[in-house]
Amino acid sequence: MVPAYNESKVLPKLFKRLNTLSVNNPKYSFEFLFINDGSKDNTMDLIVEESKRNNQISYVNLSRNFGKENAMLAGFDYAAGDALVIIDADLQDPPELIPQMIKYWEEGYDDVYAKRESRDGETWLKKSTSHWFYSILDKISNIEIQRDTGDFRLLDRKAIEALKELRESNRYTKGMFSWVGFNKKEITYKRDPRAAGETKWNYRKLFNLAIEGITSFTTAPLRISTYLGFIISTASFVWISYLLIRPLFGVPTGDGYTSIMATILFLGGVQLLSIGIIGEYIGRIFIETKNRPTYLIQDYKKYKSKK
Ligand code: UDP
Ligand code: MG
Repeated sequence: MVPAYNESKVLPKLFKRLNTLSVNNPKYSFEFLFINDGSKDNTMDLIVEESKRNNQISYVNLSRNFGKENAMLAGFDYAAGDALVIIDADLQDPPELIPQMIKYWEEGYDDVYAKRESRDGETWLKKSTSHWFYSILDKISNIEIQRDTGDFRLLDRKAIEALKELRESNRYTKGMFSWVGFNKKEITYKRDPRAAGETKWNYRKLFNLAIEGITSFTTAPLRISTYLGFIISTASFVWISYLLIRPLFGVPTGDGYTSIMATILFLGGVQLLSIGIIGEYIGRIFIETKNRPTYLIQDYKKYKSKK
């Protein structure tokens, strides 16, 4: 399954690599399912054209850009095979690794995921932000987080069916792979730089995905604001007692401008932060209760196996 958004520059190369893969592994019948995520370039035309030449190619054309997370759900829904590999269109995930994944799948693993050894072509800032994000998420949520692992993985039908049950509209698929469980196997690979075109990610999107990751898998931030409230209330109580007792011992009470300002500003900040955290969760409740479909389809072509 290949989610693709504005990937016309790499698609010809990808078609070639996928074709080589299927020629080299005649034992298996491959379906190459493309999810066109509302591309604004001619990605869809290229896919349709290629699907006329090659009957291994099927596609789902979404009605607009729904984001990679939702595109992947469409892929789970429409993929036909006994197993499914999620692979990026930009050839950062080498298709040559797939036979190795299949080998482990045949040994009985349900989720063979590829962990990157190196991250060539990514900036120092992106590497370190993702490192920090994962360590925070790891500490505050109770599911195991797979480091340096993307969506590049092979899933058994069992795992696909499980993932299809998770239909929330705020999706953090990477956490779902851990959440559903099943037999996992790790293989390592060298992640290549993008073959062509530009990354769709920017820091705003990454930051939003990070908040998604935290809020959809743990309510720990709510707990943090409870703790904060508790600690600050206790400290305030102690301090107020001291202020009340002070005049009895003849300590002159001054204007107190600094302490009043400090208290107001500090409490204001903490309150806003807590309201913000609560708001994040209420917002998600709001979106989920609307229960809208996670994606809409313009048209699709189903895979027909030769057998
Ligand atoms: N993608 C998508 N919808 C989007 C953004 C990205 O389907 O809204 C696809 C994109 O075509 C690619 C994969 O998700 O196949 C990963 O995107 P990208 O390479 O831009 O992300 P990066 O590798 O830089 O994290
Ligand atoms: Mg990429």
